[in-house]
Amino acid sequence: MKLSFSDQDELFRKEVAAWLTTNLSGEFTKLRFRGGPGDEHMFPEERKHWEQKLAEGGWTCIGWPKEYGGRGCTIEKQVIFFEEYARAGAPGRVGHIGEGLAGPTLIAFGSEAQKQKYLPGIRAGKELWCQGYSEPSAGSDLANVKTRARFDAEKGKWILNGQKVWTSLAHEADYCFVIARTDPESKAHKGLGFFLVNMHQPGIEVRPIQQITGTSEFNEVFFDNAECDADDIVGAPGEGWKVAMGLLGFERGVSTLGQQMQFQNELNEIIRIARENGASKNPVLRQRIAKAHAELKIMRYNSMRMLSGSAWSDGSLQKEALIYKLFWASWHRELGELAMDVLGPECEILEAAPYQLSRLQAMYLFVRSDTIYGGTNEIQRNIIAERGLGMPKEAKVQ
Ligand SMILES: Cc1cc2nc3c(=O)[nH]c(=O)nc-3n(C[C@H](O)[C@H](O)[C@H](O)COP(=O)(O)OP(=O)(O)OC[C@H]3O[C@@H](n4cnc5c(N)ncnc54)[C@H](O)[C@@H]3O)c2cc1C
Repeated sequence: MKLSFSDQDELFRKEVAAWLTTNLSGEFTKLRFRGGPGDEHMFPEERKHWEQKLAEGGWTCIGWPKEYGGRGCTIEKQVIFFEEYARAGAPGRVGHIGEGLAGPTLIAFGSEAQKQKYLPGIRAGKELWCQGYSEPSAGSDLANVKTRARFDAEKGKWILNGQKVWTSLAHEADYCFVIARTDPESKAHKGLGFFLVNMHQPGIEVRPIQQITGTSEFNEVFFDNAECDADDIVGAPGEGWKVAMGLLGFERGVSTLGQQMQFQNELNEIIRIARENGASKNPVLRQRIAKAHAELKIMRYNSMRMLSGSAWSDGSLQKEALIYKLFWASWHRELGELAMDVLGPECEILEAAPYQLSRLQAMYLFVRSDTIYGGTNEIQRNIIAERGLGMPKEAKVQ
């Protein structure tokens, strides 16, 4: 198992860090440590400009092949980039769904025309995407989607009707990739299509959902005869499940590894407060801080173990990776609780109106969702049991 990066990779780390130090300045200084999970509503316009700044520097889509505007970076270099990005406190990426999900999916499954049409806008940081998977009765059981897509031969377009929910950043997005049923008689994962839908059209309504943090980062999205060009279905009608599952492979992939640096930033902040307010003298809190520190190190070593395998060279995950989501999401939820206990009574107090949550308060509330999105903890345990340990498949309700 490798425990460190190569000299060449470390040089790349210096290059990334230097670019971020130089460019995360001037008008972008205020974006430092802003716009991450739970803080997504902050500075949306400025963060869109930042996307374009990154693109000008060649720092968007670095893992994409060069022919599509990427840098063709190895997994190791991508992890380094995400680590340095978080270490520098660079802002939450409004373009991450396009860069991390839509783009790689189009590269893997899209037609050449779709690649030419959509990849440059993502690469330039100018076109934002959202993910239209979940519905009121299709979350963990994603194959239960009810949104319908009917081909209108006269118009030469797909017509979509239905509802999505929890659609992150739909209010900012220019496009949405939508799973919809092309065969109304079909059940489960058969008869689905994967559509690339323009959000700027009369048939789409986006309604924000207010979260416990008081902000709205995700939405309900209603399709009422929304239109989609005939060429904007990825794969054939009925093949949507294959494409949708391919995309989830990217979701659980490399970009999550860099977030450990963001976790380290949060833990450092908790330690700083504990030192300041005397919580560090409390033996139980000291023990919990030490546990959080040790487990963050374990998270890193597990990432390095995943990186050591040859399977990583083609971007696919090894079995060790199956435990990663469950581990980091549960760890992060506990970190939120630790932050509140270190803050003590202060964690329950907000300064004068208009009430603004502090970064740690927002983190505490938001991390409750870490164990839900991207596959809940229970679903992760099923995956570990079935794919990792080879146990019998979960019984399905008929
Ligand atoms: C912050 C956030 C952002 C999101 N962004 C998006 C987005 O951009 N696009 C999108 O499409 N979706 C998004 N989602 C939705 C997310 O994918 C779903 O919430 C998730 O898949 C769970 O589905 P559900 O909410 O319908 O819960 P359900 O699937 O109804 O689950 C409810 C409970 O039952 C448990 N459960 C369900 N099935 C099983 C089983 N087979 N075995 C054991 N336990 C089970 C679950 O673990 C959970 O505890 C987002 C969610 C959150 C919290």
